[in-house]
Amino acid sequence: MGGYLMQTQHFSVNDGEGIRTTLFLAGCPLRCAWCANPEGQTCRNPMTRWAETEEVLRELEGQRIFYRFSGGGVTFSGGEATMQGDFLRELTDALYDDGCSLALETCGVFDFDALAPTLAKMDQIFYDLKHLDPEVHRKYTGMDNKLILENLPRVAALGPDLVVRVPVVKGFNGDDSSLEAIFRWLADRVPGGKIELLPYHRFGEEKYRQLGRPLPPASFTVPSPEELDRWRAGAADHGLTVVSYR
Ligand code: SF4
Repeated sequence: MGGYLMQTQHFSVNDGEGIRTTLFLAGCPLRCAWCANPEGQTCRNPMTRWAETEEVLRELEGQRIFYRFSGGGVTFSGGEATMQGDFLRELTDALYDDGCSLALETCGVFDFDALAPTLAKMDQIFYDLKHLDPEVHRKYTGMDNKLILENLPRVAALGPDLVVRVPVVKGFNGDDSSLEAIFRWLADRVPGGKIELLPYHRFGEEKYRQLGRPLPPASFTVPSPEELDRWRAGAADHGLTVVSYR
């Protein structure tokens, strides 16, 4: 068995604790208008490749020493890693049995019951929360937020180190009322929960050109450091724990 990979990134320090390898699995059920990795939205495209599970595991073996001395491990990212459920499960099971620390970055769109045994093996889960309004969510990601909102408390109940990540995009959710709604909703369901605000950036635009796709809307703009500080303070006012891995 195996699956489609976009990239294997060793010595990653932004995707969890310690020194990690981030495996970018291809495929995503969403089409976020600001996506920085549009090549990860589909499994088969010129920027992805098929990899056997054994081949990936062999490549990770040489990194074990770095994981051990830094408290690091492997982070599954994407795209949306849960889209390739069998590939994710095989890698997770093998690495977990070897005592490797595991983390997952997810957009929250998955069948929870099918995935729960795999999720339960994650030490840390980064869970994206983009907008509370279902119609705005659908307009800018291609899907409403119902399943995402249902799955978040279920994932929290599994007990991983949960970090809710909000991509902050002015013109989408980068305003007081949208973010305040997210903080309130999260504080009600995961009191004291960890939250990370990730500012929108335009670094992925070259990939859109390479793929021959239209660029993200010009109406999307980058929040200022002052605005981010103010919104982080707003999250803390709700009792949330503001973290940063960047
Ligand atoms: S969930 Fe992430 S990978 Fe998927 S379309 Fe949105 S930003 Fe891109």
